[in-house]
Amino acid sequence: MSFFSWLANGLGTLIGVVTDVVSTVVDTVRSVYDTFVGKGGAVKDVAAEQSRKKQDRLREVNDEIMHLRNRGMSGGGLSDQERRRWNTLREEREELKGTLHQAKEVKAAEKILDSESVLQKVEVDLETTHVLQYNAFADTLGKTCTCGRQMKLQWRRDLSVAGPSDFYWGCTGWYVPIGQGKACNRTEPLQRSDYGLMTDTSAPEFSVTAEEFGVILEDPGTANIVVTRVNDLRSDLAARKRGVELATCPVHGEHMVLRKKGNPSGLLDTYFLACPHWQPHDQGCTFIEKLKSGSQLAALLKAETGRGIL
Ligand SMILES: [Zn+2]
Ligand SMILES: [Zn+2]
Repeated sequence: MSFFSWLANGLGTLIGVVTDVVSTVVDTVRSVYDTFVGKGGAVKDVAAEQSRKKQDRLREVNDEIMHLRNRGMSGGGLSDQERRRWNTLREEREELKGTLHQAKEVKAAEKILDSESVLQKVEVDLETTHVLQYNAFADTLGKTCTCGRQMKLQWRRDLSVAGPSDFYWGCTGWYVPIGQGKACNRTEPLQRSDYGLMTDTSAPEFSVTAEEFGVILEDPGTANIVVTRVNDLRSDLAARKRGVELATCPVHGEHMVLRKKGNPSGLLDTYFLACPHWQPHDQGCTFIEKLKSGSQLAALLKAETGRGIL
């Protein structure tokens, strides 16, 4: 059951709603949600508990797959029995990812229904690209590449403030190495409708323009506060052996881990999210998300601690 005829994400933002009004969209989501509940679908705490169990199982499955992979690569190859086990595990992984994806949709629908009163439409232009960036690093539900993998919103990273035309969809297969190349390097331009978001605009970050927000972040005092808060969050997550809720690895399905670079050149070069199976020097899973915009740091802080940057 799919909850959305638009793209959505874990922050409860809908993408591609340029021609729809908030009430119509919310009514549609509510009716699908009610049907799901009527059919006995798991929601709220029950869904969260189920997801937690599936996540635990997924971790075990991934660990065993990794173990077999390392054995196979360290010479000698795998026996027929190990090969069969490998295939069974990979099937189980896809099944678990499918169930977890459904749970993410349920959660996104609940966020939208809960925040109806503060939902507003934003048409992304030069002044509001930070709203798009804010929503870009969370898993995008519903955007798939021709190869079947998830696509995610990307933008040119060499700019301090990205303009609307600097965004594009990139296939997550780009992070999957195959030989010397990538499993998929397809990109797609944003459609006009992709610039129409329906989102909770009550975040203070959205009361300033993208450029003003960029200037605020250049202030060393602000940067220091953000560093302290993100460091605190990182220690807290590490102590609880937890990843971040908002982003999962498209290959392994597990929550991403907040990490810090060794010698960063500044605030926007300091943090990144990595798959739990990430290892330095491309040894493990190569899926990472650089936190290279203030918007992403704000979204992360807001989602994990309840308060953004401003
Ligand atoms: Zn692809
Ligand atoms: Zn991964």
